[in-house]
Formats: sequence, structure tokens, C-alpha cells
Amino acid sequence: MKQLAIVVPCYNEEEVLPTSSKKLLVKLNSMIDEKLISDTSFIIFIDDGSKDQTWNIITKLHQSNPKFQGLKLATNKGHQFALLSGLNSVTDHCDVSISIDSDLQDDIDVMDQMIKKFLEGNEIVYAVRKKRKTDTWFKKASAQFFYKLMLGLGVQIIYDHADYRLTGKKALQSLLKYQESNLFLRGIFPHIGFKHDTVEYERLERYAGESKYPLKKMISFALEGITSFSVVPLRIVSSLGLIAILFSTTLSGWVLYQHMTGKVIQGWSSTILSIYFLGSIQLLSLGLIGEYIGKIYKEIKARPRFLIDELTLKK
Ligand code: UDP
Ligand code: MG
Repeated sequence: MKQLAIVVPCYNEEEVLPTSSKKLLVKLNSMIDEKLISDTSFIIFIDDGSKDQTWNIITKLHQSNPKFQGLKLATNKGHQFALLSGLNSVTDHCDVSISIDSDLQDDIDVMDQMIKKFLEGNEIVYAVRKKRKTDTWFKKASAQFFYKLMLGLGVQIIYDHADYRLTGKKALQSLLKYQESNLFLRGIFPHIGFKHDTVEYERLERYAGESKYPLKKMISFALEGITSFSVVPLRIVSSLGLIAILFSTTLSGWVLYQHMTGKVIQGWSSTILSIYFLGSIQLLSLGLIGEYIGKIYKEIKARPRFLIDELTLKK
């Protein structure tokens, strides 16, 4: 039977941890009873440099039941790094992991389904939100805009999926090879590949404490996603440069015509022509430099160039 690790990042979550830990333990035990997972499965809370009682609660939970484990980061690194540290730490201690937020806004009852899909041979199972009935118009529209923008920019992401996800050992080991410091896990998992599937769930409201993701953080997170996975914005600059050159060539015909018909004051034609041409050449050159910076950025990230799923060749 497969050993499961449930990975839960926590930042100042003293208000939700007592309840969430109980619910998660009940879920874990019920999956053990159903023989879906082994009884060595566990839950690990990652304390992301909390300033409240979070770590105290985690250590007490661990003392009360070894099914609760804890990892304390030296300082607050943000949700993505807290999650990464948890996933990296469980890689050698489990066969499969599920990551979930500590406020349990994501429905823990689809975990059974996720495990079943894993047992059917899926290495990654993405939990995606069903229709957003409870969301405001703004939240719905901005989320849709974000996903469409990402897809349009060539970033592979799973529509309406956050970080509630099952990851098998192979994918966890592959994750170790991603050494980048600009972290956008939602983009990395589709980049890893392997056989995958999705399950649907209804996202609830946070039942206690407050969101650690205000709008400002959400926007910078979206920018992180785009700039970590797409060089299209740089290419837009080169394209703009090319368009500007075409425009200025056409416009220079008109400027020369004005010049020859003598309708303009002296010096206008030469001034305006140099503005057009130098402007467009500068834009094109910036874009060109951008193309190389994009390539350097890709090299520096040193992502694995390929990952092997199966190999029939034996030693
Ligand atoms: N979180 C974290 N570090 C941070 C911010 C958040 O580990 O710097 C955790 C937080 O404790 C929660 C999860 O990330 O378990 C998601 O945060 P939250 O529920 O506040 O985000 P929202 O659901 O509002 O987007
Ligand atoms: Mg939340």
C-alpha cells in the first residue's frame, strides 16, 4: 500500500490549526481504514516563519500523535517556498503527496478520488474548482482574465487549479531538479509532465483567520507566473520595434511630400524623420537585446531539459 504525505503550509494559522488538524486526521484515518493508503501515512505542517503560536501548536500535535509531523522554516518565505520545502522534505519519506492550504477551503473529501486516480497510474492529479458560484463578479472576471492571459502567453497552467494537488514520487523527484528562485509551482507541474488527471471540487470560504493573499500579493504572484514562464513580453517589444519601423517608413514618405511642397517650416522634416527612425530602431534594438536576455534567463534557471517517465533498458 502506498504511503501518503499530506503537506500543509501554515503562516500565522493558530486560529485554524486546531480544527484543521482534527479534520485532516479524521480524513487520513478514514483513507487508511479503507485501505487506500498505508498506516504509515502522515500529515506534515510547514510553519512558514509564523509570529503567532503556530509552531507551538504543531509541536504539541506531533507529541500527541506521530501521524502529525512538522517543519519550521527559519523565516517567512511565502506560500510557494513553504510548499516547496514541504514537498522536497517528504520526497524520500513517502510514495505520494497531497498539498493543501491549512484553512481547508479546498474540499478534503476529494482526496479519496485523487488517490484512486493515482492508483490508476496518474503521477499528478490536479484538483480544479467547479463553477465559482460564491465568487464576486470581479473575482471571477479577474481570475478568468489571468488564466486566459497566461495561456495566451504560452504558459501551460491548469484552468482553475491552485495548489491543491496530488504528486507522486516520480514527480516529487523531478521537482528537486527545478532549482529556480522565482517560484511558480502551478507552472512547474505541467512543465514536469507525466500522466495526469483532474478532479473537481467546490471551494469554501475561509472559516477562521484571514487571507494571507491580499490583492497586491495576488498581482505580484501573477506577474511572477508570467515572467517565470514566458518570454513573450520581450518578444512584444521586438514586434513593436518592427511595426514602428514600417510606420516610420510610410510616414517618411508623407514628411518628404510635405517638405517638397514647401508647406513646412525649415528643419521640421529632418527633425521629425530622425525622431521616427531613431525611435523605431531603438525599440527594435531593445527587443533584440530582450531576446538574448530571455535566453540567458532560461539558461540560468537550469531547468531539467527532459525527464524520463519509463525506460525499458535494464542495467
Ligand atoms: N501561507 C504561507 N506563507 C505565506 C502566506 C500564506 O505558508 O506567506 C499559507 C497559509 O497559511 C495558507 C495558504 O498559504 O495555508 C494559503 O493562504 P491563504 O488561505 O491566506 O490564501 P487565500 O486562500 O486567501 O488565497
Ligand atoms: Mg485560503
